[in-house]
Amino acid sequence: MKTFSDAYSSISKFVKDDRLRKSLAFQTLYIGVSPYQGPSLYTMIPMIELFYGVHFIKGGMYTLATALDQLFDELGGKRHYATPVEEIVIENKSTTGIQANGEFIAADAVVCGADFPYAMENLIPDESKRGKYSNKKIANMDYSCSCFLLYLGLDKKYPESTLHSIYFADDFKKNTDDLFENGVLPSDPSFYLYRPSLMDETLAPEEKEGLYVLVPVPELSKYDDWTNVSTQSFRDQIIRLIKERSIFTDIEEHIIMEVCYTPKEFEQKFNAYYGATFGLKPTLAQSNYYRPHNKFDYAERLYFCGSSAHPGAGVPIVMQSAKLAVEELTKDDSTV
Ligand SMILES: Cc1cc2nc3c(=O)[nH]c(=O)nc-3n(C[C@H](O)[C@H](O)[C@H](O)COP(=O)(O)OP(=O)(O)OC[C@H]3O[C@@H](n4cnc5c(N)ncnc54)[C@H](O)[C@@H]3O)c2cc1C
Repeated sequence: MKTFSDAYSSISKFVKDDRLRKSLAFQTLYIGVSPYQGPSLYTMIPMIELFYGVHFIKGGMYTLATALDQLFDELGGKRHYATPVEEIVIENKSTTGIQANGEFIAADAVVCGADFPYAMENLIPDESKRGKYSNKKIANMDYSCSCFLLYLGLDKKYPESTLHSIYFADDFKKNTDDLFENGVLPSDPSFYLYRPSLMDETLAPEEKEGLYVLVPVPELSKYDDWTNVSTQSFRDQIIRLIKERSIFTDIEEHIIMEVCYTPKEFEQKFNAYYGATFGLKPTLAQSNYYRPHNKFDYAERLYFCGSSAHPGAGVPIVMQSAKLAVEELTKDDSTV
């Protein structure tokens, strides 16, 4: 927990073998920060993984969404799908509701789960209503890295091997510098493979399997040249690496379904600012109290949760964020 050191240096004080060092340090990438830069307190991630294990939700992460949906129903909630919020309406420093589909919907309180920096710039367009979070400040904050994803459906079942595999670049330090400093697509990328149907066979038809490929890439303020041509070429480079380095040596002949996400999709589909998949980077200056608060400081009855708000990114942490936002709301509600 040497807060002022970085993860790699702290781990190196205890572990000599560079392969072990990397396998413990890379986990800061789970929250989009470089192991050579991010505060070492995030070495708690491998500690928790190794001591307590990892939980799996049957059906995959989507089950969490459907379970929350069901609970919301049971509690009498009403959802409006495919209805983007256009504005959070604030009058005299108090939130009165939202604007959606060109209509004003009044509310006693608003909890915003959209990415905080995006929400500032787009949902509260009047800068004078959001205190220190001017457009300039938002654009200049530090953002986590992004991800290039391939979801592949394969018409073949490969021999059982590991559920999760991480392949490190030969020069991992250069790889992370490319992501966080140089703003270039890594020429020798690290990548992660996950075979969900090894764990839960309902996730693929018989004799077939799904493969999830994740490659950390820079966020869009650092690199944004995702054209059809560059995307295809990066995709081909990753498929080549998978063939060379994993058991999927003939993968290209067996891909029957393929979905690709670049940082542009994260920006366009989910309104992730700069397509930064883990929101604001958890540097010391953007952690704990210094991260955007769950209770908005500049207007009453407005609350934020999600990866760019306190405490940070990752599904369990974002769930905590939602819980904290609701606690603040409930506290305020009981004092009105
Ligand atoms: C490739 C990848 C792998 C990951 N793997 C893991 C993992 O293994 N374990 C883990 O714990 N975490 C993982 N994470 C991190 C985790 O997924 C995120 O931190 C978490 O989902 C963020 O939740 P959120 O609610 O802040 O954002 P989101 O899940 O993006 O939800 C925000 C929602 O708000 C919606 N929205 C945006 N703007 C509007 C608007 N104007 N009106 C209405 N709705 C709007 C968006 O469409 C979106 O659905 C991963 C992330 C990525 C990208």
